Amino acid sequence: MGTSQLARSIRESPTLALNERARQLREQGRPVIHLGGGEPKNKVPLAAIVASGTLLGGGDVKYVPTDGTPALKHAIIRYTEEHYGRLVAPENVIVSSGAKQSIFNALVSLVDPQDEVVILAPYWVSYPEMVRLVHGEPVVVTPEDGGFVPRLEEIEAAFGPQTKVLIVNSPNNPSGAVYPDELVAGIVGLCEEHGVHLIMDDIYHRLVFDGARPASAYAFTDRDIEDSHVIVVNGVSKLYGMTGFRIGWTIAPRELVDVMRNIQAATTSCPAAVSMAAAEGALTGAQATVENLRLGIQNVRDVLLNELRTFADVHVTPPRGTFYCFPDFRAYSDDSQELAQFLLDKALVVAVPGKEFGFEGHLRLSFCGSVKDVTEGVRRMRWALDPSAPNEIFIGDRRCVRDWL
Ligand code: PMP
Repeated sequence: MGTSQLARSIRESPTLALNERARQLREQGRPVIHLGGGEPKNKVPLAAIVASGTLLGGGDVKYVPTDGTPALKHAIIRYTEEHYGRLVAPENVIVSSGAKQSIFNALVSLVDPQDEVVILAPYWVSYPEMVRLVHGEPVVVTPEDGGFVPRLEEIEAAFGPQTKVLIVNSPNNPSGAVYPDELVAGIVGLCEEHGVHLIMDDIYHRLVFDGARPASAYAFTDRDIEDSHVIVVNGVSKLYGMTGFRIGWTIAPRELVDVMRNIQAATTSCPAAVSMAAAEGALTGAQATVENLRLGIQNVRDVLLNELRTFADVHVTPPRGTFYCFPDFRAYSDDSQELAQFLLDKALVVAVPGKEFGFEGHLRLSFCGSVKDVTEGVRRMRWALDPSAPNEIFIGDRRCVRDWL
C-alpha cells in the first residue's frame, strides 16, 4: 500500500502495543498486573458528570467555537490566575482535544522543515514522533551524570541556529523528577536570550509529593505574555482523572493562539462540546478531588518504593511527582525491551521499557493503580529476576518455579 514516507516513519505507540499484548493474555484468563498505565483509576469528578450530563440532557450538542467555549476559557483563565499567578486574556487561551493535540498544534504552528526541537531525556515517548510529524528534527539532551535532570549548560550546548522550540515536562513522565526552580528559571532566561519558544508541558503539575511545589515558568519572566517565549500546556486528563474526555489547553501569545486556531479549524473544527462542559465542571467544582487523588497516589508511591527496596540491585530515584517511577534495572539487563518482554512472559507484569523514553536500562512502573497491584507486581518481578528471592511463587492459582537463574 502506498502510505507516505512520513507516516511510515512513525512507530507504533509502545504503550499501546504492550496494552494489546496484556489484553490478549487477560483474555486467555491469565492474571496480568499492569504497571504500564498512564491514567489514574479514580472516578471522574461529580461536577464534571453533572455539567456534561446537563448539556446532553438538553439535546442541543452542536459545533462550538474552535478555540473553546467561553465558559471553559473563563474557567481556564481563573485556573491560570490561581495556579500560575498570571492573568491572561481569552485570546491567550486555546482549548484542544487533549494536551497531546495542544502540543502537536503548537509544534505545527512553530516549526518549519528542519527546524530543531530540543527534548530532554528521559522524555515522553510522543515528543520525538510529533516533531518528526511536523518535519522538524528532534535534538535530545541526555544528562551526562546519568540522572534525570539536565544541567542548564547541557541544554544551552544543544541550542544552535536552527533551534526553534524546547519542550520541558516537569513533573516528568517517565522519571517523576521535578525540575528545581533555579533550573526552570535558567531555562526561561535561556529561551528568551536565544529566541527559542519554550513549551512547558505541565500536565502533571499538581501531582507532586514531599512538599514539592509545581513551578510556574511565568514566575521567572518579567515579560508581558505577548512578548513571552513561554507556552504553557495543561489539561484535565491527569489531575482530574478525565483522560477519556480529551481536553487540554494552551496558554500562549495571541499571535500563536491565532495560528493554532486556524490549524484546529482546518483539522478538527473544535473540541467536543460535551467534553468541554465536563472540563468546565471539573475546574469550577469542588477541588478536593485533586488533593484526594494526589494523596492516594503518594500512598501507593510510598508502598512501591518500599517494595523496590527489597530488590537487591535495582537503583531507584524516588519520584517527586507524576505517578511513574523509573528504576534502573541495568544490574539485570541492559536491554529494557527484552527485559519488559521477559517480565510479561514469565511474571505477567507489564512495565514500559526505558528505551522508549530515550533511557536504556530502566523500566517505567506506574503507581496510579492499587497498592495490591504494585506489591504483587514487584513480588513477581523479584521472583523472576532476583536470585535471592524464593524460587517458587503462586501467580494466580498457578504454582510457578523459577528455573532460569
Ligand atoms: N504530556 C505528557 C507528559 C503525558 O504523559 C501525557 C499523557 N500520557 C500527555 C501530555 C497527554 O495528555 P492528554 O491525555 O491530555 O492528551
